[in-house]
Amino acid sequence: MADFDLRVQAHAKINLYLDVVGKRLDGYHEIETIFHSIGLHDDLYLRKRADRQITVHCEHPHVPCDPRNLAYRAAKLLLENIPDLSGVDITILKRIPVAAGLGGGSADAAAVLCGLNTLFNLELAQGELMQFGVQLGADVPFCILGGAALGRGVGEILTPLPPLHDAWVLLANPGLEISTAWVYQHLNLSLTPLKKNVTILTRCLRNGEFSSLARHLYNGLEVPVLSKYPVVKEIKAKLHNCPGSCGVLMSGSGATVFAFMQSQAEANLAAANFENDFAFCTATPMSSVGVRIS
Ligand code: ATP
Repeated sequence: MADFDLRVQAHAKINLYLDVVGKRLDGYHEIETIFHSIGLHDDLYLRKRADRQITVHCEHPHVPCDPRNLAYRAAKLLLENIPDLSGVDITILKRIPVAAGLGGGSADAAAVLCGLNTLFNLELAQGELMQFGVQLGADVPFCILGGAALGRGVGEILTPLPPLHDAWVLLANPGLEISTAWVYQHLNLSLTPLKKNVTILTRCLRNGEFSSLARHLYNGLEVPVLSKYPVVKEIKAKLHNCPGSCGVLMSGSGATVFAFMQSQAEANLAAANFENDFAFCTATPMSSVGVRIS
C-alpha cells in the first residue's frame, strides 16, 4: 500500500434476528433486529490532503469510486459540517462481499467517520459520529457502535447487548448481489409466517446461552428472497447439514447465509470443504468491535 496516515478496519455485520414490524408513512420499514459484528472486514487507508478534495480508490468492479461511494459520502458529510477540515484520499481493500446483507458499504462509511475523527483530532463523541452516520444509512450507527445490539426504528435506535465471545460462523454466498430495496418492495407483511419475539434472543445474549440462541435465529426477509432465489434455500440446506453447524440464517437482505459452528476447527474445515461450492465462503469469529483503528 502506498503512503497513508491511518489504517482503519471496517467490520461486517450479521443479523441474528430481523423482523419487519411495520411501514412508516415516509415509506421506510420499521424493523426489530439484532446486529452482531464479525471478524470479516475491509481495510481503509486514509491520507490527508492539502486541499479539500476527496478521492476514493477501490479495485472491486462493483464498488463505485465516485460520490456514490458511502466512504466518499461520509468524508463529504464531515467536510460540509466542519469548515476547516482538509480533504482525504481513501483507498478501500474490499473483502466484504458487495450487496450481500453484510453491511459492507455501511461499515466503510463508519470507518471513514471514525478514522477522520482520529486523523484530524476532531474529538467527536461516539454519539455524535452515530448522528452523522444515520444520515448516510440505517446500518451505519451500528457499524460505529459495533459488538452486539438490538436495533429498532429503521435500525438506528440501538440498545447495546453483550457480544458473543469464542463463537465462529461460516459465511456462504452464491455470488448474487441482491438489492435491499427490491427485498422490501416484495415483502408481504400480512404473509409473514408465525410471529417471532426478539426478547428470546436478547435474553440468550444477556445470559450467554449460545445453544439456545443458535436455535432461535429468525429473519423475516428470507420469505421473498428464498422464493425468488432457490439457490439461497439450497445454501441454507447445505450449511444446515454440515458437521458442526448449529443454527443457520440468511443475513439482512441476503444473499449471504451464515451458520453458527460448534468450534473454530469445524468452521475452518467446513470453509475449506465448501471452497469450490460457493462464490464466497469463509469462516470468521464474532467481533466485539465494528471499527478498529491501527
Ligand atoms: P445494504 O443493506 O445497505 O444494501 P449490503 O451489505 O447488502 O447493504 P453493500 O455491500 O453495502 O450492501 O452494497 C450496497 C450497494 O452500495 C452496492 O450496490 C454498491 O455498489 C454500493 N456501494 C457504495 N459504496 C460502497 C462501499 N464502500 N462498499 C460496498 N458497496 C458500496
